[in-house]
Amino acid sequence: MTRKLSTKITKMVNKLFPVRSIKESLSQKHCYLCKQTIYEALPICNDCKADLPWNTLACTICALPMKISSDTGICGNCLCNEPIYSQCISAFSYTFPINALISDFKYNKQRHFGKLMSKMLAIKIEKEIKKNELQKPDLLMPVPIHINRFDTRGFNQSEDICIDLSKYLNIAIDRHSLQRTIHTPSQTALTKQERQKNLHQAFNIQKKLNGEVIALVDDVITTGATIECLSTLLLNAGAKEVVVWSLARTPLGQ
Ligand SMILES: [Zn+2]
Ligand SMILES: [Zn+2]
Repeated sequence: MTRKLSTKITKMVNKLFPVRSIKESLSQKHCYLCKQTIYEALPICNDCKADLPWNTLACTICALPMKISSDTGICGNCLCNEPIYSQCISAFSYTFPINALISDFKYNKQRHFGKLMSKMLAIKIEKEIKKNELQKPDLLMPVPIHINRFDTRGFNQSEDICIDLSKYLNIAIDRHSLQRTIHTPSQTALTKQERQKNLHQAFNIQKKLNGEVIALVDDVITTGATIECLSTLLLNAGAKEVVVWSLARTPLGQ
């Protein structure tokens, strides 16, 4: 009698909650941008994802967003003065809504936005590595922030990005070797030479490298002065090669 009853109950439960609907309710999310209910792996709907400013037309060396495609695929800056790092991959152009998402991630502690953009960056990097048969870096290093800024913000956004890239791409993180020892608040009033001098004094590296390929990770690349400076530091410390990965790259004139 008990057995019959339990069989009956199991049948009723299966009828009321078929496996598919349980699975669906587990994967049910709301799109971070338009809030509609979705059943995607990432918390963004396909329409919003397609509308993002993907950095598809960009310099193949420094990832600067370009308005028109050039024969060489290389921007004017890189043609005149090739960067010290070998290549930069930036998932997005730093325009709306990516600039708003990054700002919320950094200044309003909306770290889930960082996670979403980091996963999209990881997918892009994985595709680029496969397509161009690139060497997978040995280590990820976040662009360091000064301890005062870390204390106010509570986290380094570049470290957050590294954690997600590390999980997805299976690359170890070295989060302590690069350090920012001097806080350089605003550099906009300075000349390029003065900015570079300040930057070179602001960072140091705590260990000797031994021919590793390093992926330097940042949230947004603007002038490229910081990553140039850190790449020099890493190569002088013994890195074989430096590549740069960032969520976004600022277009010229912004
Ligand atoms: Zn949406
Ligand atoms: Zn370029």
